[in-house]
Amino acid sequence: MKGKKILTGLTAVALCASLASPTLASNSSNGNLTNDNQVYSIKGFTDHAEMVNRLQQIVKNSQGRVSLEVVGQSNRGRDIYQARVGNGDKVILIESEIHGNEKTGTEALLNILQYVGSSNSPEAQKIRDEITLVVLPKMNPDASELDRRGNDMSWAEVVEDFPQLSTAAPSWNYYASGMRQDRNYTGQPGFDVNRDFNPDLNYVPQASDFPGSSSQPGWYITPESQTVRDVYKSLLAEFGKVDVFIDLHHQGQYYVEGTDDLVSMSLSAEFVPHPDTAAGAKYAEYKDNYNVGFSKQLNLAAYNALQAIGESSPFNNITLYQRNLDLPGTALGSFALNGSGTVLFEVRGQSHSLGQKRSGQLIRTVETGLYGIINGVTDGSVTQLNPEDYENIPETAYSPTN
Ligand SMILES: [Zn+2]
Repeated sequence: MKGKKILTGLTAVALCASLASPTLASNSSNGNLTNDNQVYSIKGFTDHAEMVNRLQQIVKNSQGRVSLEVVGQSNRGRDIYQARVGNGDKVILIESEIHGNEKTGTEALLNILQYVGSSNSPEAQKIRDEITLVVLPKMNPDASELDRRGNDMSWAEVVEDFPQLSTAAPSWNYYASGMRQDRNYTGQPGFDVNRDFNPDLNYVPQASDFPGSSSQPGWYITPESQTVRDVYKSLLAEFGKVDVFIDLHHQGQYYVEGTDDLVSMSLSAEFVPHPDTAAGAKYAEYKDNYNVGFSKQLNLAAYNALQAIGESSPFNNITLYQRNLDLPGTALGSFALNGSGTVLFEVRGQSHSLGQKRSGQLIRTVETGLYGIINGVTDGSVTQLNPEDYENIPETAYSPTN
């Protein structure tokens, strides 16, 4: 693996923070003509109101199998929904659009809820018997409606909620002004909610922990992260464990190492250094919970399902996401330290850079990967996979090999 242009070992860059410049365009020799400058309408994606209608329709079609609950409100008062189906004792929690400009995950989740909730097939019945599937689609709805990464909240509103922070510097993940991923935060600031998690699920914000940094935990200062934390805690209370947590994202445009094939989706099982290592010693108190081997098996279940679709299809262009991360403020990092098997999906391109045909393919990529995990947990086959095979998933490269 040495000598290749891989992301491994680079300074930790934020998950899906568009590593590549938005001006990147390439015309690769395999005929994949791409241009990241093209801005497409996001009308083809479900907005918040449409999602609510669709969820209610899914509940109706499911004859009582799917339950729907409002579990919180965004900072601007939009309802955050939880849909739940199945009665098994293995829990799979999946969220989408923690970054509001990363929309394929929501579409995939709605399709999966529809199938698992209403199909009378033996396969769907088995899933409902073996697992409890809990889904938080569009968990950051203010960001979703703005089609941007950050939520819609000012530091002053945080201090209103937590007066003990009146002397603190605004957190490092606060977008106070300026442009980011084609969106202007001046006059409408917000936070990267996916840096606001803390492995201490009972953490209370204190001024001395600000502004923090990417390798330090977050604070649960946003109502969106608080809502997910509360759902997680209630599942812990009910089941003793949240077996699997999956977070659905998008990233920039990259290549499968050693090829000129564009990556369709990257996967990852590792978001913090192992508590057994020197770098991970700061997480020693979570050591007994942390199970990266199971996370790798879950990632392999997604990878294998996509490989099974066939040679030379976009579904084969799957890579590992950037390695050697230390991001305890992500939902994945925090929940991995609490014992969940964790999986990151990073689909190519932000929502507004995808055309309709490509969106359809990428939604199918997400669905296929998720069914790989759901089916593997349902029949137990995921635990038969060799975690070491995770290392055989290709790495990601910045540039094509020509
Ligand atoms: Zn993201």
